[in-house]
Amino acid sequence: MEKMIIVGTGCAGLTAAIYTARANLTPLVLEGRLPGGQLTTTTAVENFPGFPDGVDGPDLIMRMKKQAEKFGSRFQYGVVEEFQPGKPHRLKIDGQWIETKALIIASGASPRYLDIEGEKALIGHGLTSCATCDGAFYRNVPVCVVGGGDSACEEATFLTRFASEVYLIHRRDSLRASKIMADRALANPKIKPVWNSTVTGYLTDEAGEVRGVTLKNLQDGSVSELALKCVFVAIGHEPNTAPFRHALPVDENGYLIQKQGTQTGVEGVFAAGDVADHVYRQAITAAGQGCAAAIDAERWLADSE
Ligand code: NAP
Repeated sequence: MEKMIIVGTGCAGLTAAIYTARANLTPLVLEGRLPGGQLTTTTAVENFPGFPDGVDGPDLIMRMKKQAEKFGSRFQYGVVEEFQPGKPHRLKIDGQWIETKALIIASGASPRYLDIEGEKALIGHGLTSCATCDGAFYRNVPVCVVGGGDSACEEATFLTRFASEVYLIHRRDSLRASKIMADRALANPKIKPVWNSTVTGYLTDEAGEVRGVTLKNLQDGSVSELALKCVFVAIGHEPNTAPFRHALPVDENGYLIQKQGTQTGVEGVFAAGDVADHVYRQAITAAGQGCAAAIDAERWLADSE
């Protein structure tokens, strides 16, 4: 039986791994579908303290993992299929049950899509949620970003390195993004805002690749088509709580609820980072929560022995 399992290797999971490893708990850290979490899909991180010139997202994650390994964390690829709370808690990973005394869930959140018919099949064929991953494939062609938050502005600004123009399609007439990121995006001559509009459908060519979108103007109801080669969706995230929802309290959007410090509704099960936080969602707050969860878990283990 394990003493400590950490689910997730984003900022929250890796910080929890560093702290619990330094407390001699030799945590088993499960790397899921996106090892390293969302920072691996971002470029320059300019707001993580200690890096005045910014730091590359994947590089920051790599450094955290190295630090966690240095103190004895063990990493294993594994997606949680089922969870049974108890003494011990049980997790089903790739068909096999493993048991642990304490559990820190730091499984993060995944990008949302628009929920338009046929959408799933287009992912990777001119539809994506990751500019860092796919931007370079779309050189000197028009693309669009959907959304009005920091992610949309960051992705749109990044995409201007490659695309001929970047339509920023937003359902309202002002951006939700922080002022500095909104100003930067709107000042870029390659970024063309399309206000008060939603994407209602994807247009494809004979090869099944996106060639454009249909748009609806929410003010006058008019419908139009926009020719482009790729749609980058940046409309927020869904918490990765599916295997835990039956056993742990979640809010109306599916985020894990922390009842006492970082402890969830079940003793010995802690939550950290975007899986439980729909408010701050920053690398540094996720790291802070990973630290708090590690300390809470360590104390809980000491008290329960
Ligand atoms: P967000 O702030 O929740 O913004 C989502 C955007 O998508 C909003 O503009 C929203 O419109 C729009 N939207 C939501 N559902 C939609 C739908 N079905 N159809 C069309 N549009 C839809 O998400 P985010 O931009 O991913 O940011 C999440 C958090 O990460 C924020 O706290 C942000 O500050 C942070 N972040 C920080 C950085 C950075 O500092 N470098 C970079 C990226 C993200 P409405 O505005 O109308 O609601």
